[in-house]
Order: sequence, then structure tokens, then C-alpha cells
Amino acid sequence: MSTTPQPRPPELQAVHVDALLQDTTPWLSCDECFERMDAYAEAAVRDPGNRDEAMATHLRGCAACDEEAQSLIQLLRGGGA
Ligand SMILES: [Zn+2]
Repeated sequence: MSTTPQPRPPELQAVHVDALLQDTTPWLSCDECFERMDAYAEAAVRDPGNRDEAMATHLRGCAACDEEAQSLIQLLRGGGA
């Protein structure tokens, strides 16, 4: 018989909270997002690897701006040539 008691790490939650707090640091308002939308879409079309992290974070949490950005990117891709 082997009894292996597993102690619960109480600091795991603190780490989790810290990660969540860090995630909101590059947060943009929708106004700022719209201001950078053109540049973001152009950069996304030209170089998909070169992403604006602040924009990406906002778009991940804001469906309205994400839709706007996606349609703008598609527009640039479709009418670029
Ligand atoms: Zn937004």
C-alpha cells in the first residue's frame, strides 16, 4: 500500500491572478483600436508574423473590432492587386 498525500499548492492561485493581470496590460480602448486598425490590417496582410500584440489582445476580447479588422484585412487582400 502506498499512500501519497498530495499537498495543494496555495500559491498557484496567486500566480494565476498575476498572469491575468499581466494579460490586461496591453489593453486598448475601442477608439485606440480603430485608430490603429488601418496600420494593423496592412501589417497583417504584408507580414502575418509581424503582429501588434496590443491590437491582437484587444481583438481577442472585442468581437466588434475583430470583425472590423478581419473584413479590412480581407478587403486589403482581395483588392491589393
Ligand atoms: Zn473594441
